[in-house]
Amino acid sequence: MELIDVHGHLVSKAYEEDLEEVIERSEEALFSFICAGCDIASSQQVVELASKHPKAYAVVGVHPENIDSWDEGALLALKQLTQNPKVVGIGEIGLDYHYLQDMSAEEVEANKKKQKQIFTQQILLANQQNLPIVVHSRDAMGDTISLLQQTPPKVRSLLHCYSGSIESAKILMDMGFSFSFGGVTTFKNAKNVQEVVKNLPLERILLETDCPYLSPEPFRGKRNEPKNVVYVADAIAKLKNLTLEQVAAATTQNAKRLFAFLVKAL
Ligand SMILES: [Zn+2]
Repeated sequence: MELIDVHGHLVSKAYEEDLEEVIERSEEALFSFICAGCDIASSQQVVELASKHPKAYAVVGVHPENIDSWDEGALLALKQLTQNPKVVGIGEIGLDYHYLQDMSAEEVEANKKKQKQIFTQQILLANQQNLPIVVHSRDAMGDTISLLQQTPPKVRSLLHCYSGSIESAKILMDMGFSFSFGGVTTFKNAKNVQEVVKNLPLERILLETDCPYLSPEPFRGKRNEPKNVVYVADAIAKLKNLTLEQVAAATTQNAKRLFAFLVKAL
């Protein structure tokens, strides 16, 4: 059985002590796993990690929470990183209005504007390089959709850790998007996400861990790691009345199609 974790953060303090062991377990358990950057420094580090480990791949980008680190050199730095053959996408990028809660109205407006500019610039970079984007969207689905309509990705792309409605998912599907789901799918109280999983076609579903965060049951609350993606696959199988093997085969195929690296592996 082949499984792919399409989104995790192995460049994280959480793995400081035992990163090599975590990677070893991931390489044993999985077909491959994609490590996401969230600013320039971590993007450089995920590319380095991917260069050293055969089953590791990287997406590079600046997360909306880290836009303060964006400067004139950022776009060029990302562009240079995309030259590495292990880089399979631009991410995670997007809009996050959740962390704006404590700001004044003026600060919120300025911050949203900056998030949108940086998101747009990174989509254009992905389009220039023929790479998919990996989108993060929290408390910002309306703006995310309108921005993507204004500046659509050129190739089929991914909404990661999807928690939106089925209506939004349909709009995004028409734009060529697929969706990855993680540990939340296994939580008893995640009815909304489970309904969406039930209603989405399997061809648009990919698996992720978003490690070190969001461990699936039975590890909820503990540090997560790529090999736990099998619990997500199992939860999706139950929700869709399929076997684990069917979900593994389909989601792996979907990931291979979306992230072109897998064409080489076939
Ligand atoms: Zn993430």
